[in-house]
Amino acid sequence: MTGLGAGGSTSVTPEAGHESPTGASRRGPHRLAAIDVCERMWALRYHYNYRKTVEKPWTMGGTLIHTCYEYYYASLMPDEWRRKHCPWFYQRTLEERLKIQGRDWPDLVDMAKENLSEYMNVYRDEPVTPLYIEREFSARLGEIDPGGPWPELDDEEVTCRTDLVFENESGLWIMDYKSLGRSKCRRDGTLMRWKEDGEYALNWQVLVNLWLVRHELGPKVRGFIVQRTTRHKPYDFDRHVLTVPVKAYKETPRQLRYRVHHEREVVRKLEAGERPKASFHACYGRYGPCDYWDACKAPDDASFQAIIASDFDRPTPKLNVVK
Ligand code: SF4
Repeated sequence: MTGLGAGGSTSVTPEAGHESPTGASRRGPHRLAAIDVCERMWALRYHYNYRKTVEKPWTMGGTLIHTCYEYYYASLMPDEWRRKHCPWFYQRTLEERLKIQGRDWPDLVDMAKENLSEYMNVYRDEPVTPLYIEREFSARLGEIDPGGPWPELDDEEVTCRTDLVFENESGLWIMDYKSLGRSKCRRDGTLMRWKEDGEYALNWQVLVNLWLVRHELGPKVRGFIVQRTTRHKPYDFDRHVLTVPVKAYKETPRQLRYRVHHEREVVRKLEAGERPKASFHACYGRYGPCDYWDACKAPDDASFQAIIASDFDRPTPKLNVVK
């Protein structure tokens, strides 16, 4: 497993922090959902780009597992295809990348490596050809929602980034990795029974991914698969092909247009010197508090700004974000 990646062809500059080979999607489903959740949160994260300097351990565990699976599937590609689509594979070995990403979390690095070993044992003989890893797909609104309201938005691009697109004998499939902590598992640490009517039965990320990947790769994209695993021993795995609700799927391009319109409205407000709305009903969700929770709890504007300046990557906070 530790032999995955690199090949001695590229000079490497060591970097600090949490590195992704490919970066975040430019205008993806998470960003477009955030605009309707809390305008202030959207502005801080996506307009001003304030990112937490310290990642939460549970998100870091998932990030490291993603990295391991990326390298594993890249290792299965033919060399020429891999050089074209996964140049990061030749820049650092998996070992080097894990060391950089998880430099403050050696236990989580070990966990991710063990998880990958088990994963490779379980899926070693699966007849799949990996095609795209962490690739961004995109479409213009006018291409997927022709004749929609606000025609001036037709050229606006929406995007998504998929963990994996692979091919098997039945066609192309999108696969997304979901790693679960102990609180989401059975007492013995194994995965809870999959519920067909659970959170993925109607899921924004799934709908957007299917639209945009099909827009680029065509109808041979058969569907969306959720690959689950645990972030602890015993490493458990399962895989589910989602049934996508037809009506919601059809409505998705128009929903994308509404979200882009909302983004435009908020940007206009920010540029006019107004402050985006806060949504205090959205401060604490299923993954815990919002990243800006401590700042929004501050007693006044100065304390808010001080917290943003100390806890986030951008050192110079813009003003006008507090209402
Ligand atoms: S803590 Fe609440 S109000 Fe503040 S940015 Fe987050 S969701 Fe919005």
